[in-house]
Amino acid sequence: MAGVGKKLAADVLSDDSGDITKHEKLYERLYDLSDSPYEIFEFALEYLNIAVKTYTIFEDALSYITKERFEKLIAVALKIWRARVENNEPRPKYSDFAAQAVIERAAFQFPELLHEHLREIYELDDGHFYQFWRAFAYLPKEKIAPFKEALLSGETTLDEKKELARYLIGSRDIETIRFVYDYALKNGIESAGFLEWKMGEVGFAKKKAGVKRYCYDELYHITFPKNYSPEAPRVFLQQAHHPTWSLPATYESLKFGGVLEDGENPFCHIITFDKIPEGLNITGLKRLVLGSHLRECDCDTHFYQHDQEGNPRRIGDELEKEYLNYNYPIQPTELSLSLTPERWRFQDWAVSNSRENLFRIGGEPSWIQGPNILICPICGEKMDFLMQLDTGLPDLDPRINDGEVYFGSGGMYYAFWCDECKVSGYVMQCT
Ligand SMILES: [Zn+2]
Repeated sequence: MAGVGKKLAADVLSDDSGDITKHEKLYERLYDLSDSPYEIFEFALEYLNIAVKTYTIFEDALSYITKERFEKLIAVALKIWRARVENNEPRPKYSDFAAQAVIERAAFQFPELLHEHLREIYELDDGHFYQFWRAFAYLPKEKIAPFKEALLSGETTLDEKKELARYLIGSRDIETIRFVYDYALKNGIESAGFLEWKMGEVGFAKKKAGVKRYCYDELYHITFPKNYSPEAPRVFLQQAHHPTWSLPATYESLKFGGVLEDGENPFCHIITFDKIPEGLNITGLKRLVLGSHLRECDCDTHFYQHDQEGNPRRIGDELEKEYLNYNYPIQPTELSLSLTPERWRFQDWAVSNSRENLFRIGGEPSWIQGPNILICPICGEKMDFLMQLDTGLPDLDPRINDGEVYFGSGGMYYAFWCDECKVSGYVMQCT
């Protein structure tokens, strides 16, 4: 067994055949190692030391590396990055640079490991590393202080202040965010629109009573039964290939998919919570049924009010539509909810590259187009983010759309909740 990780790295890096079958075999060897964290680490370390460019196989391997070993990879990546800067070597563009891929993945999966390196990354970076601000997540107050001082300093340029405001919002520290919002607005550093956009990306919204969180801190991944989609639409082909697809169940046997009311434009059932999962701010209801007119997902936002039993009823008339999306109801099944490990709390739609499970309840949304926080049509307040569905669910007619439920051109579908009014709302985003 010893040495297989290193050998795999050498084989990956010497393969320039462009032969897809050969490439798939290399992938299989990587997945065979997923139970051997040491060998995966050896693969990644060898790869990082030899290669400048990153490939998806390297990025995939990073998902299997333990936190302790990730810390070592970060140190190596920073050393490589620093050497290139010191030697004035041309750096590959951001998305191609293996050392930066390590830092970028860490910014999502283990932001705390980057906290002591923020100053160094800031100095090495020449502005191409757009995910840098994500490394500020949960930055402790004593580490926030110097960045805050720099923001206030008269010696800091306007461009630097703009950056610092963005980084500090990334901390998710509500006092800091409220401070930055007021300060940046008062001093003409950023517009309210821009600041709200940035806050929206990390789960905060300007509500009637000021800046508040619009997301639940609790987060669950939807775990589908292994045999759910034997025809394997696009997303499900990747099921085995990322840890987020097979997390241990916290709640079992939830009804998912099917129809609430049949017809031309079926009222599709999404999910029923017979018990409200812990940590979601859904009060006064014993159960909640989520459903929507999936064929209208391309048209506009749509809202439903829920009765005492948690059942939804459409608010307003059917949407004006030029055409109905081809979506059929989601193939019914029973599934589990899995409490999400801290590592997978932040998932970015683009970075996940169709490999990660983005079917999530609670937590922060993985926006495609940037934040679009729905406003409750009854009370006019910004709603809370409740859940998201990715494209690729099997539907009830395999003949159309390859049997997949599509959101636009293959996007995501986001559900919101107003607990005051017991209203759910839906919006779709795609590229
Ligand atoms: Zn409301």
